[in-house]
Amino acid sequence: MENEKEKSLNFLEELIQNDLEKGLYPQGITTRFPPEPNGYLHIGHAKSICLNFGLTENFGGKTNLRFDDTNPATEETEYVESIKKDVSWLGFTWAKECYTSDYFEQLYQFASKLIEKSLAYVDDSSAEEIANQKGTPTQPGTNSPFRNRSVEENLDLFQKMRQGAFEDGSKVLRAKIDMAHPNMHMRDPLLYRIRRVAHHRTGNEWCIYPMYDFAHGQSDSIEEITHSICTLEFDVHRPLYDWFIDKLAIFPSHQYEFARLNLSHTVMSKRKLLQLVNEKVVSGWDDPRMPTISGLRRRGYTPASIRLFCDKIGVAKRENLIDVSLLEFCIREDLNKSASRFMAVLDPIKLTLTNYPEGQSEDLHIENNPEDPESGKRVVPFSRELYIEREDFLVDPPKKFFRLGPGLMARLKGAYIVKVEDFTLNEDGSVKEVFASYIPESKSGSDTSGINVKGTMHWVSIPHAKTAEVRLFDRLLIVENAGDLGDDFIKFINPESLQTLEKVYIEPALANVEVGKGLQFIRKGYFCKDSDSTENQLIFNRTVTLKDTWAKAQNK
Ligand code: ATP
Ligand code: MG
Repeated sequence: MENEKEKSLNFLEELIQNDLEKGLYPQGITTRFPPEPNGYLHIGHAKSICLNFGLTENFGGKTNLRFDDTNPATEETEYVESIKKDVSWLGFTWAKECYTSDYFEQLYQFASKLIEKSLAYVDDSSAEEIANQKGTPTQPGTNSPFRNRSVEENLDLFQKMRQGAFEDGSKVLRAKIDMAHPNMHMRDPLLYRIRRVAHHRTGNEWCIYPMYDFAHGQSDSIEEITHSICTLEFDVHRPLYDWFIDKLAIFPSHQYEFARLNLSHTVMSKRKLLQLVNEKVVSGWDDPRMPTISGLRRRGYTPASIRLFCDKIGVAKRENLIDVSLLEFCIREDLNKSASRFMAVLDPIKLTLTNYPEGQSEDLHIENNPEDPESGKRVVPFSRELYIEREDFLVDPPKKFFRLGPGLMARLKGAYIVKVEDFTLNEDGSVKEVFASYIPESKSGSDTSGINVKGTMHWVSIPHAKTAEVRLFDRLLIVENAGDLGDDFIKFINPESLQTLEKVYIEPALANVEVGKGLQFIRKGYFCKDSDSTENQLIFNRTVTLKDTWAKAQNK
């Protein structure tokens, strides 16, 4: 259905199509994904990745991966490696791996050129003085007393800044634009600051570092980026972006803005995600509850599901909050088609088949995935003693309860119909054990019993069962709009976001599955083996439950 629908172009696709029709980019377009390596990528970045790489895939061209590493204090090589891994995992290939730090010399030359054109000056004002000079949105600013230094003096001071002649914070380089400009970003913005901090790539080679606004657009231009796509808050920076390119007369990259992704029940700023890691609210950047790409991967999300999600949310000019259940819908869509089915009993009670011979067992052949006829069958051992799910037996079942209760019949998945004969209780009144007879002629696939039952239940043979730990996850934050709460978000952590089931009984075939591969535990959800698993301890993460509340709400 989805594929048949003629997809309309989003505003960026329309714009690029127009540009191409005008013959503006005969060599194709060039975009970039420009993360700052100060944290792991999150699902918001996935939107930007899918957009930037998607545009060049669809319209012809190439996309660079650029590490925007102008802030040495927060950046690390670990982050660079994780970012490369995540972009590749999503299925994209970058044309060039670039670093803004590789352009430090070129950027220094650009700045010198602005000085030569009397368009930049060295300012000795303190940070506070500069802030005061800026004025307010309704009041013009005032010129710095250092604004009229000569070109020669500025060139000399800027060179000395680079050579380390001045203390951190004692001087900055500013563009000379207009202190009364209606756009505050145009009131002589900073281009360089002095900072003696080792950089993750250039070490101690530099003690001056360019500001984002000066570095970003010029890096775009150096790489001949045709469409530089960023989030809406950079809208007000665009006049400055264009001013630098114009005054330096370099390759005319153009900036376009789109609305960032906001997802319910989580936070997305890397600073806040780092806080969750540092305060040990989560086990790390790849905790399966994190909205990071590495967290989603560990949780069992597939690249296809994330790409589908990014496609569904679309690209627009207005911000909104996307419900995380849409993301869950997308992984169900993918895993329903691809995941092999298995049986696992999360909360066991014992079921004994009184007429099944003691010591006997048989191998049943159960299909791996009814949605995929190619997926074949697997062997599942069956015997007299089984575990079934506690909730599947009720001492006092309501009408239309199609599972087990006193005297009731139901089918054991891929096996036989059973009929309850008796049960025993624990001291606390909970069910201890259920006794039933099985109907030998009712074997799945060759059922001649003539008996119709409505309920089918999963089970595990006790003598053959393996055990595992299972981790169930819920929303990380109890409020929907956690991203709007500023630093208060930390007060809204869901205390039940992780539930650990220490001992779950699983069918033996589950012992050999690959880490991360999507599986279905019949009736219990989609799961994957966690990377914490060891030879002696299997651990499974629940990716998502089976129930599809989001699609239901949409169809109403
Ligand atoms: P954060 O606030 O999470 O640290 P950021 O914007 O500072 O995010 P960058 O590493 O600078 O992170 O972002 C790289 C690219 O990803 C930028 O082009 C940015 O606009 C984009 N991006 C970041 N967050 C989102 C989001 N939530 N939705 C869409 N794009 C995003
Ligand atoms: Mg940033």
